[in-house]
Amino acid sequence: MAPPLPSSMRYVIVGAGIHGLSTAFHLARELRSRGLGSGEDVVVLEKTEAGAGASGIACGVVRNNYFQPAMSELMQACVEVWESDPAAYHYNGVGYMALGPEVQEPDLVETYERQERIGYRSTLITGEREVRRHMRELFPDWRANGVTICLHEHQGGFAFNKDSVRGLLGKAEAEGVRVVTGVTVTGFELGSDDSVKAVETDRGRVAIGDQVVVAPGPWAKHLWALLGLPARIDVRTPSGEVVRDRPMWTYWNLQEGEITVDPAMFVTADGSAPPVIHLDTDAPLLADDGTLVTDELWGIYFKRDRHGVQGGASPLVVEDDVAIDPYPSTSDVDPAFPDMWCAALSHAMSRFEGCRPHYRTARSGGVGAFTVDNFPVFDYMRPNVYTVLDSNHGYKMIGVGREVAKVVLGEHSSLLYPFRFERFASGDLHPVSHSPYPWS
Ligand SMILES: Cc1cc2nc3c(=O)[nH]c(=O)nc-3n(C[C@H](O)[C@H](O)[C@H](O)COP(=O)(O)OP(=O)(O)OC[C@H]3O[C@@H](n4cnc5c(N)ncnc54)[C@H](O)[C@@H]3O)c2cc1C
Repeated sequence: MAPPLPSSMRYVIVGAGIHGLSTAFHLARELRSRGLGSGEDVVVLEKTEAGAGASGIACGVVRNNYFQPAMSELMQACVEVWESDPAAYHYNGVGYMALGPEVQEPDLVETYERQERIGYRSTLITGEREVRRHMRELFPDWRANGVTICLHEHQGGFAFNKDSVRGLLGKAEAEGVRVVTGVTVTGFELGSDDSVKAVETDRGRVAIGDQVVVAPGPWAKHLWALLGLPARIDVRTPSGEVVRDRPMWTYWNLQEGEITVDPAMFVTADGSAPPVIHLDTDAPLLADDGTLVTDELWGIYFKRDRHGVQGGASPLVVEDDVAIDPYPSTSDVDPAFPDMWCAALSHAMSRFEGCRPHYRTARSGGVGAFTVDNFPVFDYMRPNVYTVLDSNHGYKMIGVGREVAKVVLGEHSSLLYPFRFERFASGDLHPVSHSPYPWS
């Protein structure tokens, strides 16, 4: 049975996804080790159950293929957390490969050089022939065309979504954190200094002793509004131009699916677990029967799963507002997605030829909430309210909670600082890559 709602608490965390639970666990541990308290000073309020949001349906890919220096450094710290307890987090450190066409070469070279500088283990292979050779050593039936560069990250991989959330939940509860499920935050009671005095819920109010951390995933826009923050903002670009009145939040539908096959068919030449593969190419994509699927730049990602092979493709922009609940069944997937994704798997490796009938028609994918520049906002948005709004980057960002815990206890985090809200006014934005994905 879920613990009862307390009437007051020093630290209240909203949302039991990867960020809320990681923050709760790390905050509890910091409080204990610094002699400042314990997990009993922390409550997590969750409207459904732990992992009911994006963290429970994420493909679970953990990678550091980020063109933005700040993302790359933060991700290195996150991978450190995944690697710290692979058993509890159900983390598979199988590595990750980004394969791309010529247009992506400069970005991947820069990303690789930064990974070398910061000590993130990876290999870069350039040239169509060399890439093919590298891939065929791993997968003798590799046959993708138009790929001239490969960034092979030897760290990263994937974790099993719900299992890792349960792992974090167990760690937080073992530190004494109370996780109250089935309680919806409906408002914030503000004091005259704009700080939150109490969190209002559908089961009563919780007075705040110290601070609130809001980690609502796809519900970011809703919580943003409850905090009285602006729906539209002006954005100063690095050139100094100000783009006026932009919506702070937009939505994308993440398209994902799976084929039910014997997972043992997807192994490397020496029988090892395969790395996660992300393939972008401008080679024409044909279905197994030879019909053209697309002759424009396309991309997919895929990984070996427990019951087959799972992955996705570019997300779809949602033009207007979207109903988030019941999550994730409100998301729309392009009806052509299964044909495209299966054709792309077959384009990559002949072992996937004829896999279309094995596509599993099940709810897959979900809605993600994106900020105005598609990068996270990690910042205090009220004097005692820290918001963890990851712009859908963040299942892999398990280490953000470790940083947030330090910030809540008064430390500076150089890893989180580049994600402050003030960047939209100052023009200190993140550089943008050539990737078609809003999260690269
Ligand atoms: C289909 C899909 C695939 C993805 N794949 C990957 C991937 O491979 N790798 C990766 O790194 N990222 C991936 N992501 C992104 C990643 O899942 C999210 O960025 C991350 O899980 C967000 O974590 P969170 O803790 O902020 O939010 P969530 O996990 O959504 O948790 C937020 C919680 O807050 C609760 N909540 C919301 N409103 C309230 C309220 N008013 N009161 C109380 N509780 C509330 C919700 O019920 C939910 O449990 C994917 C996303 C999607 C949709």
